[in-house]
Amino acid sequence: MTLQYRAAVLHAAQTPLSIETVAAASLKPTDVLVRIRAAGLCHTDLEVIEGSLRYPLPIVLGHEAAGVVEQIGPAARGVRVGDHVVLSWNPHCGHCFYCDRDTPILCEESLGKGPQALSFDGESRAMLADNRALQQLMFLGSFGEYCIVSDQQAIPVPKEIPFDRACLIGCGVMTGVGAALNLGAIAHGDSVMVIGCGAVGLAAVQGARLAGAGAIIAVDLDPAKLALAARMGATRGVNASTDDVVAAGRRDTGGRGVDVVIESAGSASAFRSTTEAVRPGGQVIWLGKIDVNKDVSFRWGSLMQEKRIRRVSYGNARPRRDFPLLARAYLDGTLMLDELISRRIKLDEINDGFAALKRGETIRSVITFD
Ligand SMILES: [Zn+2]
Ligand SMILES: [Zn+2]
Repeated sequence: MTLQYRAAVLHAAQTPLSIETVAAASLKPTDVLVRIRAAGLCHTDLEVIEGSLRYPLPIVLGHEAAGVVEQIGPAARGVRVGDHVVLSWNPHCGHCFYCDRDTPILCEESLGKGPQALSFDGESRAMLADNRALQQLMFLGSFGEYCIVSDQQAIPVPKEIPFDRACLIGCGVMTGVGAALNLGAIAHGDSVMVIGCGAVGLAAVQGARLAGAGAIIAVDLDPAKLALAARMGATRGVNASTDDVVAAGRRDTGGRGVDVVIESAGSASAFRSTTEAVRPGGQVIWLGKIDVNKDVSFRWGSLMQEKRIRRVSYGNARPRRDFPLLARAYLDGTLMLDELISRRIKLDEINDGFAALKRGETIRSVITFD
């Protein structure tokens, strides 16, 4: 019998998501059926709703989720029925040019198929009531009661971590903590600046703390977000609407500039500040996004002096290694996740949730499913 479930479907850009009953496809051999228990609302979903990021429609959005494995295909490996899992949006082939060079985020198959918005094998795993195939964002589509994923996307985590917190690990927290821990090469006592204190930035602040950074300078326009950053490990808050970001960085570093600058604001002015604030020989990590057709300008002199600049997605994630570690860090009390959740909502409230995200009122709204 076909499994039917409720999901939020986007039929056209700049229209509300519609909550409707959809049907799951039957499981392929390496598929995993996950009953979704919590799903976070991320900016990337909002970009698709607004039409600045284009995918074929109709589509089920959602790519930051946690749930319980309800069924597995006969060839699915690394996961069992009953496991609590966080979903990864980076399936990869394991044998292309980039996979061979240990950069699964650039996997040719993954990047090639991503724009089709289907499962990793190029087929859809969900249908509308009239049998039309549904697209799925980032090989997932987790704004629904169920989601069928490939076995490499279902990452078991300890059962003690609540689903609403676990789901955050699947995108925002992995991206921010991973930037600091996996990529930043932050040495004990290094100075770190994080520009933009949304979910990703607050995770980066915590990654810097976990890496043993000395000064951690948090930058935002919102005093409430700066207060949260202070609780998570920032040693100084800089309000970019009133303070000079570059001067603030120099103040804490003997005038040299900051060792590692992590950008998670997604604005042209933030990108520009990063190269000004970093010290000679220092590192800049860009996490944020702006419209891909827009220009960003830099003062040429700010790019000189051996500065290393890198744009990164997903914090160099190795989900099977990193997701359980991050869940364990939460359970040990070293990674704060409770504070990232501004609202818990039901699936029917998803449009209000995105409106609040757009207004900058929330760090994360999380949909919880009973
Ligand atoms: Zn995301
Ligand atoms: Zn590959």
